[in-house]
Amino acid sequence: MRLYWSPVELASRLARRGVRYNFASGAPDPGLLPINEIRRSFERIYEKYGAAVIAYPGAGGLRELRIELSRYINKALNIRVDWRNIIITAGAQHAIKILSQLLMRRRTIVYVENPTFVETIAPMKFQGARLIGIPMDDEGMNTHKLENLVRNYGPGIVYTVPNCHNPTGVSLSSDRKRHLLEIAEKHGLKIIEDDPYTSLYPNTGQTLKSMNNDVIYVGTLSKILGPGLRIGFVITSGKLRNDLEKIEQHDFAASTLTQYLVYDLLRRGVAYDVIQKAHELYPRKLRELIESLDEYLPSALMYRPSCGFYAFINTKANAWNLLRRGIKQGILFVPGNKFFINENRPNTARLSIGSIGINLIRDGIKVLSVIMNN
Ligand code: PMP
Repeated sequence: MRLYWSPVELASRLARRGVRYNFASGAPDPGLLPINEIRRSFERIYEKYGAAVIAYPGAGGLRELRIELSRYINKALNIRVDWRNIIITAGAQHAIKILSQLLMRRRTIVYVENPTFVETIAPMKFQGARLIGIPMDDEGMNTHKLENLVRNYGPGIVYTVPNCHNPTGVSLSSDRKRHLLEIAEKHGLKIIEDDPYTSLYPNTGQTLKSMNNDVIYVGTLSKILGPGLRIGFVITSGKLRNDLEKIEQHDFAASTLTQYLVYDLLRRGVAYDVIQKAHELYPRKLRELIESLDEYLPSALMYRPSCGFYAFINTKANAWNLLRRGIKQGILFVPGNKFFINENRPNTARLSIGSIGINLIRDGIKVLSVIMNN
């Protein structure tokens, strides 16, 4: 049993004083969170459904929400889905936790991008899975190297964030997406696609799920409607769909109240309004980050981000030491070491543009460059 604190949590705890430049948080921009609409929806569902909104949730999720989500998934993510194949979860992390419980045992081989998102691999490690890192470049995971690894280690599961990767910001190229799906078919690999960021940017490229229906798709509304709502979903079918519904009976984690809330928000088109604003704001924020890095820390970027919230940099010195100094100047980021699989890379860090104000990005990188160069 291996339990550990996420470096995102640890970095945030270190910052006891006020943080001016928060490059650590993966939360969405506070200006886009539809807090007034959430209040309106709360009043609407209270009026319309009364005590039903605090009844026990059913396994698999609220039918009305699943139907509304199937429309949203079609429109925002270009995936055609029967609502019965959508299982509501308490966020994407919960989805990945229950998928890990169902699909992974001691020594199950799981291929993951290296680096990968530290928090979603925690439940896989807890199951005792053996994680194998796939090297990455600016086009995402190197699928030729994946195929060699599969020849070595045998069949297993691929966990991937193909679009707008966390923590590198890159997207898997179309050719490699096709190659990955071919490899999966040829070697009998299951694919779990974790996809929180595709809908936040225009032209992010296809999801693997829209190219091949065998892919197990994990989605979330955290980055659009708010991470504290804890509403995510899995799209899958057959036995796995049934098993997910059964395992949900172990905790009924997604609350009925928030399921009704999200249902009403989707019905009223609030998610689409946020997406429209996101398409305008996040590309500008990411561009500001990349341009500031190019100007103040020209060789720091380890990958060229294309979308999402993150950039991954070489800090030249131990990132935790740098962070301790950075916090004194009001700057927060996440040291990158724990994002790597079986590799020690202490001189790396993840920078996020999620919740920092766009006007603070350039100044923040300037401050970071002074700390890094001294
Ligand atoms: N997967 C990835 C790749 C993420 O970046 C995040 C958010 N940081 C999550 C999952 C977690 O999403 P949720 O809030 O829905 O659990």
